[in-house]
Amino acid sequence: MEAPPFWGGNVCLRAAAMTAAMALPTDRATEALAVLAEATHSIHADQPLQQRVHRLFEVLRPALRFRDARLTCWLQSAMPGTVRQQFYSVDGWPYPWDDELMRRVALGTTIEGRTIVVSNAAALGEHLPTIQAGYLGLPIRWGSRLWGVLEFRAEHSQRFDPVHCDILAALAPQLAIAVAREGRQLAESPAGASDGETPAGLTLTPQRQQQLAAVDRHLEAMLGVHELLSLLLRRALEHTGAEAGAIALVDHDAGELVIYVYEGYPQEQWRQLPNQQRQRLSWERGLAGRAARLGRALLVRDVTLQPDLPPAGPGARAELAAPILVEGRAAAVIILDSPRSNAFSEEELAFVRALCERAALPLHRAIHYQNALESANHLGQVFTSLPTGLALLDTNGKVLRANPSWFGLLGIDRERGHAAFHVPIDLVETLLPRLQDPLRLTEFCAASLNAPTEHRVMRLHLINPAQDLQILSVPTYDSRHRVTGRLWAISDVTREGEAERLKNEFVSIVSHELRTPLTSILGYTELLLNREFTADERRQFISTVYVEASRLSQLVEDLLNFSRLEAGKVKLNQWVTSLYGIVAELTTQLHTQLERHRLLFNVAPDLPPVFIDRDKVKQIIFNLLTNAIKYSPGGSEISLEIREAQEDEFPGDHPPGRFVLVAVHDQGIGIAPEDLSRIWERFYRVDNTNTRRIGGTGLGLSITRALVELHGGRIWAESELGQGSSFFFTLPVATEPAAGRKARSR
Ligand code: ADP
Repeated sequence: MEAPPFWGGNVCLRAAAMTAAMALPTDRATEALAVLAEATHSIHADQPLQQRVHRLFEVLRPALRFRDARLTCWLQSAMPGTVRQQFYSVDGWPYPWDDELMRRVALGTTIEGRTIVVSNAAALGEHLPTIQAGYLGLPIRWGSRLWGVLEFRAEHSQRFDPVHCDILAALAPQLAIAVAREGRQLAESPAGASDGETPAGLTLTPQRQQQLAAVDRHLEAMLGVHELLSLLLRRALEHTGAEAGAIALVDHDAGELVIYVYEGYPQEQWRQLPNQQRQRLSWERGLAGRAARLGRALLVRDVTLQPDLPPAGPGARAELAAPILVEGRAAAVIILDSPRSNAFSEEELAFVRALCERAALPLHRAIHYQNALESANHLGQVFTSLPTGLALLDTNGKVLRANPSWFGLLGIDRERGHAAFHVPIDLVETLLPRLQDPLRLTEFCAASLNAPTEHRVMRLHLINPAQDLQILSVPTYDSRHRVTGRLWAISDVTREGEAERLKNEFVSIVSHELRTPLTSILGYTELLLNREFTADERRQFISTVYVEASRLSQLVEDLLNFSRLEAGKVKLNQWVTSLYGIVAELTTQLHTQLERHRLLFNVAPDLPPVFIDRDKVKQIIFNLLTNAIKYSPGGSEISLEIREAQEDEFPGDHPPGRFVLVAVHDQGIGIAPEDLSRIWERFYRVDNTNTRRIGGTGLGLSITRALVELHGGRIWAESELGQGSSFFFTLPVATEPAAGRKARSR
């Protein structure tokens, strides 16, 4: 579109004055000419357009006696397309302007002396009664182009008369010139003011400066982000008269605004999110987002005229957004809303901008403080939930802080631990009943104290119950690298210790169990090869070789069974079976080994059939009987008891139902209480002269237990040292459905 010709101020003034003077009586014409002259002068003054329009309205006000005025103009800016800007008279009405009406003026002709109804449609702020008003609107055209629309509203009792229209018609070309010139300036300066932006550097009134100083004093004292932003928002609302407002922190990585504080919006707008999460909004939408991205304050007098700017609150018309810049970029953004379309002026904008400048440093400090608090909080959570026991000690070894794992691993009563707890004295004392070598721990503590900068590690073995702890003690320093004490980190390495023990025992037991029979086999076969013996002697030697070879074979069998059980490869072949037959077979099998003992049977006559794998159950009873033989003196009595179990005999974890109880009682060496719970462990052998002499792998009972549990039964033992032992296990009775599955008669 072609730009209109530029009109110089003087030519214009003369033309307009002549036009108006010809149509009016002399006194009114003089009056009108004076107004016209002053109005023309203010339009072309050397000031920003904003201030010229304000001045124009003030000049026109006494003549037109309007209540409210607005100029909407369309400027050609550096931005693509045309930018609309609106100017309002100072001290206007809080009633919103009717943009539909303005559009009709823009598309048509002047609307003069019309009575319109205005009401406060906004949801926010004060509720004003609906009133009637006089309205006058005229388009500002020049050439074939529309440059703007000028509108006035008056109290209903006051009507605009035709003289007013003449004055305004004469001013219209002047305004077109001013608007055209403003648009050209904008186009020439890409960094110039864009829509909604107002010139910076407006000096604040003394009253505003006092308000700022009062806020300043409070800001200095604040450390929390939330309380600081709450104060800022409160003051911004108070001193700008905005009805609603919010402050968001800017998440530059996500391109989002995180709403921190807000006031005056309807409840549902910022509904509380679960887990105290904060509302997040994309910074692509709305004035606040734009202010955050551009890093400068923006003012929009009527958001409803800007379809690309969704208002922050329902019914908002005027919006003001200003960033709080920290290190050159927006750390936060404040948004203020009003339902009154011209609620904020440059003065409010300048005030909010100054407020944001004052808030920058305190906010920077508060964000740092909050980050420090958050990381302290995270570290605290890690400290509390870590399975490693951690304690901070001072240089005397006094516990300053310890986590729950520290108390748990060392078995220290928390109450006691919270009172003054000195590691070198109190730890040794607390652990004394469980320490095999108390001196080692004492020495470790003393060494840590004597060489405060050294790193130290020790493995601590505790008994009752057995537990292996690894203790790491490292020095701690302050910011000036002075030693402040020590950090003790304790981890439970019992499992690692157990694996190590198992490996060692496996090697020593297997090598011992292999070497003993192999030595006698080699010895006897060598004798037989090198010398002549009588037939009796030969038989005796060969029988010894046979027994030792059987021992070896049993060892290999045990190891294979054990590894198959461990790998879960053993499957049961279960049938409904009577235990009487098994007992008979076992007696024959154990015949030779039972020569030195008396074996008694106590098998109930009405024994119900059981649902079992016959060979595995034979192996279970065989293991228990051989142990009874191995660990009891010759001539003593061993008894095998089999009957249906009573439920009250079951140990705690026993499954419910009908079970047969098998018990093997002996009068042997017995087992000490501390060993009784461990005899089921792989490779565990009670360590005493008897067991060392007798030999074994420590695998029998762990295999036996696995086989019983595969059947759904349980195994347990009762014993007293030197008085004999009883081993019990249960097998499931073949109930109806089970009986229907498989039955075998042997
Ligand atoms: P082992 O091959 O050593 O006999 P087991 O697993 O069968 O291995 O038994 C583990 C340990 O339990 C034995 O070393 C022994 O100390 C103890 N034990 C088992 N049965 C008896 C029993 N009837 N009387 C005394 N001690 C027993």
